[in-house]
Amino acid sequence: MYCKNCGNNIDDNAVICPKCGVATGKSAIDQNKTNTLAIVGFVLSFLVSIAGLICSVIARKQCRESGEKGMGLATAGMVISIIGLVFEVIYLIAFMVLIL
Ligand SMILES: [Zn+2]
Repeated sequence: MYCKNCGNNIDDNAVICPKCGVATGKSAIDQNKTNTLAIVGFVLSFLVSIAGLICSVIARKQCRESGEKGMGLATAGMVISIIGLVFEVIYLIAFMVLIL
């Protein structure tokens, strides 16, 4: 890509132009951006375990591929979802045992 400030041809992954020191914009934003799905998955993991689990698994894949932040958040969402699911199954079994 080319620097927006000085027009020099610079590395596509460069965060700052080595010639003039101006931030390249695109790369810097990408590296600082947290994966939206990781946040959604984390929140959902507390509310709807199965939806949280699905979102977190997809978010982890996206973070790995794009280099976005949110890997830890997605992992946390995945763990919380699995724990939530286990408790839901236990409650379901306990409920069935009680009524049968
Ligand atoms: Zn430059």
